[in-house]
Amino acid sequence: MARYVFITGGVVSSLGKGLASAALGALLQARGFSVRLRKLDPYLNVDPGTMSPFEHGEVFVTDDGAETDLDLGHYERFTGVAARATDSVSSGRIYSNVLEKERRGDYLGKTIQVIPHVTNEIKDFLSIGADEVDFMLCEIGGTVGDIEGLPFFEAIRQFGQDRPRGECIFMHLTLLPWIAASRELKTKPTQHSVKELRSIGIAPDILVCRSEKMIPQKEREKLALFCNVRPDSVIAAYDLKSIYEAPLAYHREGLDQAVLDAFQISPAPKPNLSRWEDVYDRIFNPEGEVRVAIVGKYTQLEDAYKSIAEALSHGGMANRVKVRIDWVDAELFEREDPAPYLEGFHAILVPGGFGERGTEGKIRAAEYARTRKIPYLGICLGMQMAVIEAARNLAGLPTAGSEEFDHEAGKKRFEPVVYHLKEWVKGNHTVARKVDDDKGGTMRLGAYTANLAEGSKVAEVYGTTVIEERHRHRYEVDTRYRKALESHGLCFSGMSPDGRLPEIVEVKDHPWFIGVQFHPELKSKPFDPHPLFKDFVRAAKEVSRLV
Ligand code: GLN
Repeated sequence: MARYVFITGGVVSSLGKGLASAALGALLQARGFSVRLRKLDPYLNVDPGTMSPFEHGEVFVTDDGAETDLDLGHYERFTGVAARATDSVSSGRIYSNVLEKERRGDYLGKTIQVIPHVTNEIKDFLSIGADEVDFMLCEIGGTVGDIEGLPFFEAIRQFGQDRPRGECIFMHLTLLPWIAASRELKTKPTQHSVKELRSIGIAPDILVCRSEKMIPQKEREKLALFCNVRPDSVIAAYDLKSIYEAPLAYHREGLDQAVLDAFQISPAPKPNLSRWEDVYDRIFNPEGEVRVAIVGKYTQLEDAYKSIAEALSHGGMANRVKVRIDWVDAELFEREDPAPYLEGFHAILVPGGFGERGTEGKIRAAEYARTRKIPYLGICLGMQMAVIEAARNLAGLPTAGSEEFDHEAGKKRFEPVVYHLKEWVKGNHTVARKVDDDKGGTMRLGAYTANLAEGSKVAEVYGTTVIEERHRHRYEVDTRYRKALESHGLCFSGMSPDGRLPEIVEVKDHPWFIGVQFHPELKSKPFDPHPLFKDFVRAAKEVSRLV
């Protein structure tokens, strides 16, 4: 049975709880333990699938097709453990399960209450797969004291009591603000936050304190005394230049040792941190820099493309270059010529997205990359736009478009090069969707296999002809246009196993122009960069040497 570490936060949000959890996962692995990470989010959305990327950052998709919080991306990037649908839950999902059971009569006429019905539902979720790993790390979203979070805090408190002594510990992340006028780090907000936690029955075993200044011994002792933790369980978390320093930094501060001590695991197995030392060396000793433009819609909030930015940095590590990303708003190119803006970049990436806004600009960015022979990676919508560009400018279909934007234009005749897919094969069954289905969870989601054409660029990049990648989209490139496009140099080099759905396109006679219908960024790791990002950055590095 797994040991459980519950990770909560206090004082303010955005302290890097997800990162601390992920780094702890990596450190436990470095000591030879198996881990799984889980996120419990207090908001009432059933999942983040319908939340705007402007508000919530990117939606991270798992192999088994769940639309989850972007923290699961951190978990995967630090541990390499593929997240599952059962690793993420929200209040919305919990309540919707409880209400469904109530309607079905499963509670046999009982009055349904937060305790025990909602808390039991949460505890059942926590227990899934508990026999599979040595440690289960569960992060509670939000901060202690939030109204929506209360049932989660109550559930983890009960969970700690239900399990044998010593099988659950609580780790609390807080902030020590620095007051410049008095030149002091303040511990009072942390004391209050722990008091709040203790008032609902949870006594933290470990305190992780974010601080922009060194925490003096005196302050650690004060925190230990007032918050009722051991002095060596007060762990400092200083600002880092790269998130991938976190495992080494937390190890230096004694986090993994404190966790093993709290579980009384002795002697503690020695850690092997070579993976993270190598990552550190590659990040901090680059041999050059490449500049990549991301031409997208959600450019004000970098979290909207979190995994893409991370995957590019992994590609940089593989090639020992620093990848400098510039975010360019695609709408700009609907009014202005892209050339003056895109000159000087060594590669262009057009990411995924929904809705029409900015798409004509993305098409122009694809055209620029194709005609100027600049490396281009189009992801999902970025592939669809590259196909529309080639259809218009190479295959002689000036009205080429996508049903995602043009179906309302109805009578206006256009070539639906990208169309709304209503039925497809998943494993050995068929999935069907209607146009007016609910917006939540109705896309082609999760891992699907693709076959790559022998001798294609992508087969060379991947070093294989069968791949599996994660999807999240409603629309598909129509194979009716395949012949016309291929005869003009846009090859369909990756297809679904039944040959109906184009998965990858590439431009012949171009150093590097690839569009993929899936999201390769979701599977990249710093210690195992995704082949497409690795080779894309290699191609960018080549361009950087020529200019
Ligand atoms: N909006 C497009 C579709 O649904 C692309 C989605 C995406 O880029 N993730 O097919």
